Amino acid sequence: MTTILTASPEEAAAYVRAGELSAFPTETVYGLGADALRPDAVQKIFAAKGRPSDNPLIVHVAAGEQVERLCASVPASARTLMDRFWPGPLTVILQKSEAVPAVVTAGLSTVGLRWPRHPRARAFLEACETPVAAPSANRSGRPSPTTWQAVQQDLDGRIACILKGGRTEAGVESTVVDCTTTPPTVLRPGAISVEALREEIGDVIAENGETDAAPRSPGTRHRHYAPRASVVLVSTPEEATPTSRAAYIGLAVPDAGQEFARVRAVSSLDEYAAELFHFFREADRDDVDTIYAQTVSDDGLGRALNDRLRRAAAR
Ligand code: AMP
Ligand code: MG
Repeated sequence: MTTILTASPEEAAAYVRAGELSAFPTETVYGLGADALRPDAVQKIFAAKGRPSDNPLIVHVAAGEQVERLCASVPASARTLMDRFWPGPLTVILQKSEAVPAVVTAGLSTVGLRWPRHPRARAFLEACETPVAAPSANRSGRPSPTTWQAVQQDLDGRIACILKGGRTEAGVESTVVDCTTTPPTVLRPGAISVEALREEIGDVIAENGETDAAPRSPGTRHRHYAPRASVVLVSTPEEATPTSRAAYIGLAVPDAGQEFARVRAVSSLDEYAAELFHFFREADRDDVDTIYAQTVSDDGLGRALNDRLRRAAAR
């Protein structure tokens, strides 16, 4: 199939309405969308990505009111979080309604819902006139795409359309919060920090990544975010071995004269998150063997960053 590139949200949405796949930019990473109410269309997402069928998809809406149709009930914690963080990089897990096909939720009785904030995503979702199931628009296991070119690299010829936009802002995925538990549980740390959630609803259970919330968020079990090069985590640049086949990314700057093929010293956690997956793909293009990535403290966005780094480094 020929993959159409367009800057028109309406054109990209027409493919979704026809039961095909369109990738689209969001404030986190690019998503790969299908009509969430059509099992045949949703199935194409798993095929195009090579995604294990036990990994549920997040359903994207164009307005808060669409939620009522898709879930059985909205607990007070979810209402508070949606009021505060929607539209934005927050996914809430709720008991699903009968309207949501089993293929979307990998057979679970719950569904993940998100209303993105990115203007082009919002225009696209409105024009789809249906809820849109969308995981990140990468081949399964690869780094999430933060540019339309990265989507093209992974999925050209496998999907109907790519809605072009700029580099994504956050660079890490949405925070997934299970609101069916009391207190709610963070199943995947993301662009909204656990501290920010706690400011709104007080108690929140947050695993640290070592104790994996895998059984409840099946997707976190699978290999993720991995470039072709090996990712090696370091706490300081001195722990890295500089060679012409190695790259380094982190907050600390390596000593002058250290010969890496590529170095990215970021100046904040925000910048680190925005750069990470892009850096992985660039380093792969340089054909390096090893990417050294500096771990950060678990505060704020650091928790999501460390989670992605650990998963990218897992073999
Ligand atoms: P992605 O594939 O990047 O879109 O990530 C989606 C994440 O949300 C994965 O970690 C999924 O396991 C998780 N997720 C989606 N729906 C559910 C659900 N109903 N229950 C638990 N986790 C979910
Ligand atoms: Mg993904």
